[in-house]
Amino acid sequence: MGRTFRVYLAGEYVYCCRVCGNHLAVSESVISTQFRGQHGKAMLIRHTVNVYTGEPGDREMSTGKHTVRDLFCKVCHTTLGWKYDFAHDPDQKYKEGRYILEREMITEVPEGKRETGRPKIEEISVRELMARV
Ligand SMILES: [Zn+2]
Repeated sequence: MGRTFRVYLAGEYVYCCRVCGNHLAVSESVISTQFRGQHGKAMLIRHTVNVYTGEPGDREMSTGKHTVRDLFCKVCHTTLGWKYDFAHDPDQKYKEGRYILEREMITEVPEGKRETGRPKIEEISVRELMARV
């Protein structure tokens, strides 16, 4: 597959893949922490990086029918949560295009305590990241 381009995030807190430490999102992207996934607590996130999604499928949830895609870590291919493609209930439309990260599958790293030995391929500020979307 060749070299995989990865983005390194800078934010107040960085959410990482629990298995491989891949950066996934920053705390500034969190919309809500009051979600539940297949493994318990989950978060609704505005924007994620270093991930890919599977095929869309309909899922019945406590809040109605949604078309979602499984969300995978681009590095170790662990299932991290899912992405909302489409919400059938008009009240749930705010979730469309957003991501669910399962707390069980991620770790939260305070930006200040981040290990420094890791090679930084690209470091971008949250503001810059949002401007690209
Ligand atoms: Zn991973």
